[in-house]
Amino acid sequence: MKKASIRSLNRAQLEGKRALVRVDFNVPMDGTTITDDARIKASIGTIQYLRDAGAKVILISHLGRPKAADSHDLFKLDPMGIRLAELLKSPVTKLDDCIGQKVEDMISHMKNGDIVLLENTRLHKEETQNDPSFSKSLANLGDLFVNDAFGAAHRAHSSTAGIADYLPAYAGLLLEKEIATLDQVLTTPKRPLVAIIGGAKISSKFAVLKNLLSKVDTLIIGGGMTYTLLKAQGQEIGKSLCEDTLLEDAKEFLNAAKASATTLILPTDHVCVTEFNGNAAQRISDTIKPNEIAVDIGPKTTQDIMESIASANTVIWNGPLGVFEIDAFSKGTMQVAHALAKSHAFTVVGGGDSGAAIAKAGVEKQISHVSTGGGATLEYLEGKGLPGIEILENK
Ligand code: AMP
Repeated sequence: MKKASIRSLNRAQLEGKRALVRVDFNVPMDGTTITDDARIKASIGTIQYLRDAGAKVILISHLGRPKAADSHDLFKLDPMGIRLAELLKSPVTKLDDCIGQKVEDMISHMKNGDIVLLENTRLHKEETQNDPSFSKSLANLGDLFVNDAFGAAHRAHSSTAGIADYLPAYAGLLLEKEIATLDQVLTTPKRPLVAIIGGAKISSKFAVLKNLLSKVDTLIIGGGMTYTLLKAQGQEIGKSLCEDTLLEDAKEFLNAAKASATTLILPTDHVCVTEFNGNAAQRISDTIKPNEIAVDIGPKTTQDIMESIASANTVIWNGPLGVFEIDAFSKGTMQVAHALAKSHAFTVVGGGDSGAAIAKAGVEKQISHVSTGGGATLEYLEGKGLPGIEILENK
């Protein structure tokens, strides 16, 4: 993959300018309480940079997927404004909308270094439609656009892509770091390079597996997606997750792996249960009975993965290796998280569930880079162009 050449903020004139910054404040919530503020913390570098350069900072974000019938109260960005103000130890003015006359009036009174947070863009249905007039209304609020929302960069929405039709667009510091890290891992990694891909469905990760096959030294596959591959090999998988329509693709993939120089590691033992419930009796075995569901990798597989990690110089991980949300089925995923934390290798963890697993293991600080983007990381690893990044590329 070629290294993206994107417009950096250090090329922008910022003094006195209204900088519209797309951040990713789509954080995990319990009602109106933030349960993980990592994405808010990750946005601070760019916000401080812009303030120090004398810009007026206008933050834009989405939160969740509000539907017409949903209460808007659960989708407002007020908690993020409060948390950001605490982290910055500076006032953040949260507005009640993201476009319109009132918003324009408030912005016209901003002083250099002030911070305004607009309301959730997805409370306007035009946002996800990438509606040009909505994009233009957003763009009218600023002099330049800064995209720092790596976690939303795979979306072609008004606030992630369309807005750049009307304003000069630059990459924020976080987005630039995310891309530089993934580019480096994919193009000039310190080898051996090991990729660990897990998660529920092989359909959502086949493209990543195929793209990584030619790039990594060892490809480890775990989690629910494994069982389509094991069935394609002729193994009994009981009632484990399986996408039968993909069995032929799975066979092709296994053949391609055999013909490649990459070492493919699939689980050789499993934690099996007969009921999908944390209290169910577990059987650890290298075979799965017809009435069983495999919910986690077994100890032998975990050991193999830990050995691969120990001898790697770069490791990239996306997707849990078992049903890690249930403690009784989380052992494999947790042990792999701890092995990554102990490793001397450069370790990169894609956001989403693997980021959550790293947080559950309490080892965020021992990982070289935990990405703020789940879906975005995945699409980048597929080798796809991301709309929120393409708008920043030097043509
Ligand atoms: P994904 O969104 O594709 O990364 O999948 C993440 C989900 O995969 C998590 O919610 C896990 O509980 C689930 N998962 C991982 N391993 C298994 C498994 N063996 N059986 C069922 N679900 C799994």
